[in-house]
Amino acid sequence: MALRMSTLFLRTLREDPADAEVPSHRLLVRAGYIRRVSPGIYTWLPLGLKVLRKVETIVREEMDAIGAQELLFPALLPKEPFEASGRWREYGDNIFRLKDRKDADYLLGPTHEEMFTLAVKDLYSSYKDLPLAIYQIQTKYRDESRPRAGVLRGREFIMKDSYSFDIDEAGLDKSYQLHRDAYIRIFDRLGFHYVIVQAMAGAMGGSKSEEFLATAENGEDTYVHCASCGYAANVEAVRVPVPDPLPYADVPAAHAEATPDTPTIDTLVAHLDEHFPRQDRPWAASDTLKNVIVMLVHPDGTREPLAIGVPGDRDIDEKRLGAQVEPAAVEAFQEKDFAANPALVKGYIGPGALGSDGSSGIRYLLDPRVVEGTRWVTGANEPGKHVLDLVAGRDFTADGTIEAADVRPGDLCPSCGHALEAARGIEMGHIFQLGTKYAEALDLKVLDQNGTLQTVIMGSYGVGVSRAVACIAEGNHDELGLVWPREVSPADVHLVATGKDQEVFDRSEEIVRALEAEGVTVLFDDRRGVSPGVKFKDSELIGVPTIVVVGRGLAEGTVEIKDRATGERSAVPVDDVVARVREALRPGFAG
Ligand code: ATP
Ligand code: MG
Repeated sequence: MALRMSTLFLRTLREDPADAEVPSHRLLVRAGYIRRVSPGIYTWLPLGLKVLRKVETIVREEMDAIGAQELLFPALLPKEPFEASGRWREYGDNIFRLKDRKDADYLLGPTHEEMFTLAVKDLYSSYKDLPLAIYQIQTKYRDESRPRAGVLRGREFIMKDSYSFDIDEAGLDKSYQLHRDAYIRIFDRLGFHYVIVQAMAGAMGGSKSEEFLATAENGEDTYVHCASCGYAANVEAVRVPVPDPLPYADVPAAHAEATPDTPTIDTLVAHLDEHFPRQDRPWAASDTLKNVIVMLVHPDGTREPLAIGVPGDRDIDEKRLGAQVEPAAVEAFQEKDFAANPALVKGYIGPGALGSDGSSGIRYLLDPRVVEGTRWVTGANEPGKHVLDLVAGRDFTADGTIEAADVRPGDLCPSCGHALEAARGIEMGHIFQLGTKYAEALDLKVLDQNGTLQTVIMGSYGVGVSRAVACIAEGNHDELGLVWPREVSPADVHLVATGKDQEVFDRSEEIVRALEAEGVTVLFDDRRGVSPGVKFKDSELIGVPTIVVVGRGLAEGTVEIKDRATGERSAVPVDDVVARVREALRPGFAG
């Protein structure tokens, strides 16, 4: 059945929606694919739903192909399994919670590890039942603090989540690899450029973990990659190479010096150059140790100050820090917090005030570069004073290390030592080896060959299905509108009938029927009284990859076939149009 523009539930917009920051959001709304209901909550209009269903189909086909079985859990879930796993608390404000009429607690599922684990526990009891991979394509709910860019980061969104169940690590490795390969096929078919990067396991726990990031300048994730050895990692997961300890026998004793009016690292460095010049080279920001205090808010609501020491040329990267302290949230350390911790001298905080043995008792973690023997200029815990020649391991220690400093292009590759490059992307899929976290929490065990109970080993694998629609749009558009890859286009062909001639409309109907007989899906602009200009603009905005224009040429027996992506046009005899369209479709056309 052709989608007829005369009756299609669609209004294209000439104006950008006011809240749209990124092209995909702008264009999906303007071209009539989605409509906002509330922040992060969207309606799929008929055209949008077609694309969404196509993405789902690709994901489903590839999951089925690796033997994963589809099922469907409810989105409305009781609290108890999430209490057992600890996530009722850990997820914090991100969960939509609700109560039933008897005042019992429920939630709208943000992801379903618990439910899958319990389902397998419910039905299976032997190693002979394994391996098992099950999945669903389902609506998830997360009360994201910053819903963004239309369906790219929604509060209601569609995810494919699958889970593997194995009796041992070797089985898990195999299941993981199967999923990894399936994901490669899925993202190849979806038509966007992506990279596979090492990732943090996040709130789900577990060990080995990789993300599929669609490369995008305005993506929220930053990753680094090494052109030399192929290492690639989300910056959250980068482990800074730890330098060897330095000898410090010759370093003079630490000495506090007056450094008035040096509230910033730059002013401090200038002051050092003027009053304490080095023989070998000028002072650098990286000679200073910057101590930053943040406030951790734990899932149970307790607040804990945390001090982080980083070389003065580095900043704390919020996402890296967030990933390290999860499930705690990070808040700024405020004036009132300083007031409550008089041992902290704002602007001049030094290691002496920090750590479990420091005067403030605040937990103190250091950047891994601050190794034994490194020599620092840092706060003296007195207004207007800094300490010089403070040696790590000799003059101060901390409670541990933390990967929270920003990662930069040019930093050394943790795997081969070459310079890293940085780029941005959108997380499209995430695969990881959960291990036994959920099986243990929910007591999922099966009998092994020897009749002994073994905890099942799990993997968890997600694809952002609704996000993929936005992501494909983000990677496939131009200034005129969307340009869908064939496999996900809402129709194979957009047939535009122009002018007022009855003949044009009659012939168009015939072509539509002929195309449909070949299994080609058609979006048919059969609107009367709409100018050709408006129709062309709409066809460009909507973005079906092949556009057929029936109009003036008909008098000479030709129609125009236009390639939306390249803009190439050719006049073809009316009788050849079906064959020519078939040719254009061939690469991705199964019918
Ligand atoms: P992000 O870091 O982007 O918040 P996440 O790591 O929390 O994502 P997962 O829990 O790994 O996400 O979920 C699996 C997939 O679901 C993600 O790879 C992503 O494609 C998709 N996804 C996650 N959150 C959203 C959202 N708010 N809107 C749309 N898709 C999402
Ligand atoms: Mg993730």
